[in-house]
Amino acid sequence: MSLMRLAYASEATFEAKPVEKGVEPHVARILMTSRRNNARGKLVGGLYYGNNRFFQYLEGEEEEVRKTYERILKDERHRNVVTLIEEPLAERTFTNWSMKYVPLSRDVQRFLESQGLQYFEPASFTSDQCEDMIELIRNSSHDQKLVNHDDTKTLRDTPQAFSPGLKAGLIAAALCLLGALFFAGSML
Ligand code: FAD
Repeated sequence: MSLMRLAYASEATFEAKPVEKGVEPHVARILMTSRRNNARGKLVGGLYYGNNRFFQYLEGEEEEVRKTYERILKDERHRNVVTLIEEPLAERTFTNWSMKYVPLSRDVQRFLESQGLQYFEPASFTSDQCEDMIELIRNSSHDQKLVNHDDTKTLRDTPQAFSPGLKAGLIAAALCLLGALFFAGSML
């Protein structure tokens, strides 16, 4: 029995819906099926979705990887599938996971910035960039926390309970109130 690893990039065909419980609903369905099937086939790896693009890494028994990839290639939820890595593997490099999902989207954002990349466009990743992405997936430890690349923006843009201006105003008002109380107290 021989092991192999495979990575590909593709383009989602669906229109992204608002994130529910930390993940885009189409991607959530894909993850559910993948986790069920991959656990059964002892396939491990990771899926990353952002900018309407997928990057997926799979490793396991060659027959299982190839069977799964054949199904994936036929899936109409994505198109323009580009195989980035397809080679034998000496030993497994992931443990315990059927399908990881990169939880620390800021790590990926940082990775893109470090590479001078503005957008997540995995089809044009160099082989070093692919390895970096795989390493990112491998090192992510919170399997169940489903956050995708596009959430970085959401997180960053989420309005805070108090904006900095409002915070400053509240502090100034509190100081005025204290001053007034102090003044009133000194008049007694
Ligand atoms: P089924 O039980 O037949 O279907 C599972 C669920 O997926 C059902 O709810 C069904 O409605 C839905 N579904 C299936 N195909 C479609 C479709 N074309 N359009 C809309 N909904 C659909 N599968 C894996 O097993 N492992 C993977 O790692 C994996 N990664 C994927 C990555 C991407 C980017 C995409 C797009 C798909 C991936 N898939 C993966 C799914 C794969 O393409 C097949 O849909 C799946 O393997 C079918 O398995 P099944 O026969 O057990 O699913």
